[in-house]
Formats: sequence, C-alpha cells, structure tokens
Amino acid sequence: MNPVNKILTSTDKLKIAIQKSGRLNEDSMKLLKECGIDISSGVNRLKTEASNFPMEVFFLRDDDIPQYVEDGVADIGIVGENVVFEKNKKITVVEKLGFGKCRLSIAVGRNEQYEDVQYLQGKKIATSYPVILQNFLTDQGIEADIHEISGSVEIAPGIGLAHAICDLVSSGSTLFMNGLREVQTILKSEAALVKYPNIGVAQQQLLEKLLFRIQAVKKAKNNKYVLLNAPNHNLDKIIALLPGMKSPTVLPLATEGWSSVHSVLNETAFWDIIEQLKALGAQGILVVPIEKMII
Ligand code: ATP
Ligand code: ZN
Repeated sequence: MNPVNKILTSTDKLKIAIQKSGRLNEDSMKLLKECGIDISSGVNRLKTEASNFPMEVFFLRDDDIPQYVEDGVADIGIVGENVVFEKNKKITVVEKLGFGKCRLSIAVGRNEQYEDVQYLQGKKIATSYPVILQNFLTDQGIEADIHEISGSVEIAPGIGLAHAICDLVSSGSTLFMNGLREVQTILKSEAALVKYPNIGVAQQQLLEKLLFRIQAVKKAKNNKYVLLNAPNHNLDKIIALLPGMKSPTVLPLATEGWSSVHSVLNETAFWDIIEQLKALGAQGILVVPIEKMII
C-alpha cells in the first residue's frame, strides 16, 4: 500500500542497518551500490551517509539488527532470515535479497547410525540457534537437551560436548573437516530486507524508492540479453522460444534469408532454450548481462 504522499524534506532520511563485517557486509554494500546509492566505505565507523540518496547507514553486528529495527532506531535492515527467525522480533520481512544463502542443519558424527529425527531423542545438541531448533524439535515431538554456544559449534561433538550440532551450512566443507555428516535441514535462509512496522510516512516513501531499485537489480540478475542470427524459415519457431519482455525484436540481416533476433531470457530456462535455438539453426548467439531491468 502506498502511504499518503508526503513532500519529502531535506531532513527526511531512511536509516538502514547492515552488517559491520562478515558474510553479509560486502553483498549488502554491493546491492546499495547497484541501486545507485553511493556510500563511503565505513567499515571502521558506526554510521555513514549516502551522498546521493537520503539514507543513513548503521554498521552493526548482524545479531543486533532485528532489535534496532524493532525499536525503530533503524527503519530497515539487511539480515539473514535465520537471524530474523531466531530473534523473533516484531519486524517485517519486505524482500528476500538472493544472497547469503545457507541452511540451518543438524549434523552428527560421520559414523553415527542416524536414520531419522528419532535419533535425537534424549540427545545433547549444541547450537547458536536454540529458538529455531526448539521449535523444530517440538514440531517433531522430540525431547532433546539444547546446549547453546555462540561459536565454533562444529567442534562440540569432537570434544564430547554434544552428540549432534545444529548449525549454518553452505558448502558443507566445515562439517566435513570436523568429521560431521549433515543429516537434516531445518531451515533454508537468505539475506532479507526487514522493516520497522511503524515506519514513518516519509521513510516508507523512501523505502518504496529503494525497493523499486532493488527489484530492478534482482530482475536484471535473473535475466540475460540474447542476440542471435536466425534463418527465416525457422523464425516463427525461434520467436516462440523467446518471449522477451513483450516480444522479441526482429531485424533483417544484410544476408538474404536471415534475421537478427534480440530478446531477454530467464536464467533458469537459459541453457535449455539455447540448445533448442541451436537445433533450429540459430547462429552467432551472443549473451549479454543486463544491469537494470524495469518492466
Ligand atoms: P557478526 O559479527 O555480525 O555477529 P557472525 O559471525 O554472526 O557476524 P557471519 O558468519 O558473518 O555472522 O554470517 C552472517 C550471515 O551470513 C549468517 O547469519 C547467515 O545468514 C549468512 N551465511 C551464509 N552462509 C553462511 C555459512 N556458511 N555460515 C554462516 N553464515 C552464513
Ligand atoms: Zn552474528
């Protein structure tokens, strides 16, 4: 819903909290940059201002971001969904951002006989995510002893602190190096944009401007611009494979019987369609990244 339109004044600013350093910092800064927002690198500072957008940036530990946003100290924040669910604050997820992808999983020693979650009954599980883990166990009707630790969870079984762990995994190499085996995913997570539910009218307007840009950047990342030469006798079939934004652009080539076709292709269907285009006689296929995409 659009709030009542307000004339923005020079003092109206959107305050955003992002991770100070760590896995989400670089991608959060990059996203703002791709949205055309210039922020001087403030890695050693607590806050900074954008030079070309009414925005103030707070650099915080990711665990603190939900609280700052719940209190309205920051209007919005970028934080992993895993932290959003664990902290369980009164904040709203506005948009998933497509980076910081990971999963929260249960892992046990490589040689343990784990068949299903019943294995966990009465066991000791080390984790930094007691809230999410407890919800999962309650759902499954399992009673286990949750041992909360703040870091290096993966060494807990090896030193006899726990039978199993529940921790974030992306490639699984950390688990492997510690002799552990991932047996159960309990949450899939990615970075998300969260907001203060009582956000001011001016800040909501600024948030909508930012969201419009974020969505254009995300769409561009999921699509490629494709140019190819098509034999006219297969033009209809080739066009049918390439819906484009409205429909593909078709231009005659100087060589008789050939056309140049331009279109936009979604990343997910990309390789399949390229193969079919080749089979229909398409040549000189060029694939170009798109910077922003506004439909
Ligand atoms: P801080 O100092 O801000 O508290 P941290 O050590 O808690 O940082 P990071 O390790 O930087 O956090 O991870 C930040 C977020 O990155 C995680 O909460 C999660 O959403 C995401 N992430 C993506 N992949 C992984 C992974 N393999 N391990 C841990 N976090 C990951
Ligand atoms: Zn943290």
